[in-house]
Amino acid sequence: MDISTSAVTPRRQPMVECHTNQNTSVRHVNAVPLAPLAMITEAATDILSALGEDIRREGIRRTPERMAKALTYLTAGSTMTMADVLNGAVFTERYDQMVLVKDIEFYSLCEHHVLPFHGMAHIAYLPAGKVVGLSKLPRLLDIYARRLQVQERLTQQVAEALHEALNPRGVAVMVEASHFCMMMRGVEKQNSKTVTSALLGEFRDDPALRNEFLQAVRTQQGA
Ligand SMILES: [Zn+2]
Repeated sequence: MDISTSAVTPRRQPMVECHTNQNTSVRHVNAVPLAPLAMITEAATDILSALGEDIRREGIRRTPERMAKALTYLTAGSTMTMADVLNGAVFTERYDQMVLVKDIEFYSLCEHHVLPFHGMAHIAYLPAGKVVGLSKLPRLLDIYARRLQVQERLTQQVAEALHEALNPRGVAVMVEASHFCMMMRGVEKQNSKTVTSALLGEFRDDPALRNEFLQAVRTQQGA
């Protein structure tokens, strides 16, 4: 997979309404396309109106703009690249045992309902001459969490990105998450957790290594 290309997917172009009837009121015809923030603000105004809200009401007047800013922030991962995040933090090291950063909190948005899913990720790799600054792993996770996602793809993308960056002997990623689209609507199951994992290289091929990863992830602090 070409990570750098997928990480810079441009936002969709604004829709332009074209009507031949001169009397039809139209928006944006022959106009300079709105900047994404303005487009989202306008669309959010429409959504709130359609939900029956009085958008002139004091508490709601600036909500479309706030929604636009929040959504832009929560999907900003697609504008970040691996190079931005790993910038100068890959080091040559002889250490060749498993490196695991576990219980990394994350927040994402499910692409089916645009509702949050959140939880913990555990990221491990087996170095082959190179290690990465530990604080970079949570940032790497955020690149893929801060966009419209499904948990399965998030897990795989993080594993593949780390593999591409370090070319290690193996990568293991496990993600445990709760999905608001299941908790607040649909089946309304508040305590269910979805667990996904992606294993590459030796973690995939060697059951002993896979077990070492699973045991390390499950070991509670102080246990
Ligand atoms: Zn959903």
